[in-house]
Amino acid sequence: MSPAEEAASILKELGVNADGGDLVSSSPIDGSEIGRVRTADPAEAARAAVEAFERWRTVPAPRRGELVRLLGEELRAAKEPLAKLVTLESGKILQEGLGEVQEMIDICDFAVGLSRQLYGLTIASERSNHRMMEQWHPLGPVLVISAFNFPVAVWAWNAALALVCGNPVIWKPSEKTPLTAEAVTALMKRALKRFGDAPEGLVQLVQGGREIGEQLVDDPRIALVSATGSTAMGRAVGPRVAQRFGRALLELGGNNAMIVCPSADLALAERAILFSAAGTAGQRCTTLRRLIVHERVADQLVARLKQLFAHVKVGDPREHDTLVGPLIDESAFDGMKRVLGERIERVDAISGGYYVRPALVEAEAQAGTVLQETFAPILYALRYREFDEALRLNNEVPQGLSSAIFTNDLREAERFLSAAGSDCGIANVNIGPSGAEIGGAFGGEKETGGGRESGSDSWRAYMRRQTNTVNYGTDLPLAQGIRFDIAP
Ligand code: NAD
Repeated sequence: MSPAEEAASILKELGVNADGGDLVSSSPIDGSEIGRVRTADPAEAARAAVEAFERWRTVPAPRRGELVRLLGEELRAAKEPLAKLVTLESGKILQEGLGEVQEMIDICDFAVGLSRQLYGLTIASERSNHRMMEQWHPLGPVLVISAFNFPVAVWAWNAALALVCGNPVIWKPSEKTPLTAEAVTALMKRALKRFGDAPEGLVQLVQGGREIGEQLVDDPRIALVSATGSTAMGRAVGPRVAQRFGRALLELGGNNAMIVCPSADLALAERAILFSAAGTAGQRCTTLRRLIVHERVADQLVARLKQLFAHVKVGDPREHDTLVGPLIDESAFDGMKRVLGERIERVDAISGGYYVRPALVEAEAQAGTVLQETFAPILYALRYREFDEALRLNNEVPQGLSSAIFTNDLREAERFLSAAGSDCGIANVNIGPSGAEIGGAFGGEKETGGGRESGSDSWRAYMRRQTNTVNYGTDLPLAQGIRFDIAP
């Protein structure tokens, strides 16, 4: 079946109408049009979200969790068609599409549990007959801006938490992946219908490009802007939100490294490298881009990787033995070509699509394009002699998302995880840098933006902290022992 025919049949199955409007969705598989959607009015979306907030914030959190539980059920039932649509629209292989939908299901489960665990603290007061505590209240409308490469999971990470925390959600998906957003919104509508009494405007979709994104970002009615995408996008969005004292959660570009030590299990490392460097055609924020390998094992490892890269199957992401699908579009191909020049190896898989073989580039020094995130499958190999040098290379880039070390030496592993080790938001031992679980907080430092979403206590970013002090005595002692008495 052609991508267009397959998309039409999936959209019909999911009850989505995507045959009108200005925003065109093309499949990276062959470049063909697979649907059209309408853009929406950002100001109207913000107005409706504020109205929904008035009511949703008073719904008990465990009841809010019920809505997310129903969403999880809808996602479970539609896992396969939704994953297939992710493959058609983003070009990732079906296994990864299924993984992405599973991630949505997992975060729903997490958020349902969380809806009964939005704990505050009790704090020892310095004054007698006083009680101090901390409460977490709903924050307000949350805007989710998402990137093309995780067209549905990023929304779920944010929306599942935002909803149990008592906030309405407006989604501005990537203009390159509007259909998957329509499909998820249709599933959400089913969950809302089963839930029964949720306010109108609680979950909204606003399709469009950068301009529509900017209008939403600037809207003072939006309490939190959670934006995922390139560092260039974050540079534009961050200051705009700060200008109006809004809250921003930025999840931006990465330039992730793996250190391979002499004691490493090389067979394990090879598999981790192949998945992290070539998976999703090098278009993950956590993609492995720099290999920092000890000179004693470098020749052996690099030779083996060249072999693996030469044989990995590049082609139609719908075929079960394909490991590398197409790049998202021509501009991604041009970006890769700018770096590799004539060394780029285009694979003649399906006409209209941009298929490339992953490239391994041995770099003399960490400079130039090695410091940048080229959103394509290029892995730079650098050699090291002393462990300190490897750590320095790991950290000496502007980005700080994910990192990994392969070693069987306890001291090296622990130094990598220590305060003087990797400076990234994610640091793994004997696991590649990509493929995070939802239970941990996800995000990175420096040009990656500093935001954290998904598991652990990331939910706090979606709530308003309130400190309360209650006096149940008959005196009015002041803090710090200050005396301020009225003369008798
Ligand atoms: P992109 O920056 O081109 O677009 C991302 C989103 O931002 C889109 O929805 C786009 O319309 C919107 N946008 C762009 N400029 C905007 C502006 N000025 N105001 C408001 N919205 C704006 O990114 P992309 O090409 O879709 O995705 C790839 C990038 O995303 C890579 O850099 C990748 O590392 C990053 N990414 C990061 C994470 C993470 O969690 N750290 C996850 C996925 C992707």
